[in-house]
Amino acid sequence: MATEYQYATARPDLVLATDLDGTFLGGSVEDRRALYNWVQAERSRVALVFVTGRDPDFISALCASGDVPAPDYVIGDVGTTIARFENLTLHPIAALEAPILRRWHGKPELVRTRLAAVRGLWLQPVPFRHRLSYQYDDRFNSDSLTVLDGLGVDILISHGCFVDILPEGVSKGPSLLRLLDHLKLPSTQVLVAGDTMNDLSMFQTGLHGAVVGGAETELLEATRALPLAYHCRAPGAGGILEAIRAHSLVSSSPEVQP
Ligand SMILES: [Mg+2]
Repeated sequence: MATEYQYATARPDLVLATDLDGTFLGGSVEDRRALYNWVQAERSRVALVFVTGRDPDFISALCASGDVPAPDYVIGDVGTTIARFENLTLHPIAALEAPILRRWHGKPELVRTRLAAVRGLWLQPVPFRHRLSYQYDDRFNSDSLTVLDGLGVDILISHGCFVDILPEGVSKGPSLLRLLDHLKLPSTQVLVAGDTMNDLSMFQTGLHGAVVGGAETELLEATRALPLAYHCRAPGAGGILEAIRAHSLVSSSPEVQP
């Protein structure tokens, strides 16, 4: 049976910490097949962490479909869920989630109340753990989010249509660093990958990065000066393969199908 520390002594050659939509799940059919097959073939030396805005139910269903390799760990809900993944189920790591829970306590009701009257903004129809996620249309003006001032929450606008409300200081990057520290995984062997602004905090960690092809313009701008945030030509899975080679993170790099 796996434990929380299953990679602590094995020291994987690569820890792939990847966003899902538009990144691990993006790109051509051939590139996705090449990446997933390579990860499966190299599981003894490649640790896989999903770092996503998606909720636990979505991730379990995705892995149950057999379409993607199952991860070892999941940072879900835009960084507010931190879990081990086993038997198609997320097992939250209480020690890592405790400070997130404390910061979120009492906030959801206040946020919902204050945002209820904002034009063109509505809650997404998904379960929430320690965050609230909204969607907006062209009636929405981001100035209206000043109603949240002083609440102790962070606001993340991405994709031109999503607003995530998170506990202050909690996002994908900081949660990933806390997981790596907890597992004693070597940060020099980590590749983070993403395509939108809710991935920016991962690139700001200073870890090796793959900003995959087709990324959001704002993310490309925000990561241009970060030396390890490699801007890939290929979208999605192909970009991840490209960045693994560009950063020389493993001794035998995966091949991309022509
Ligand atoms: Mg994405």
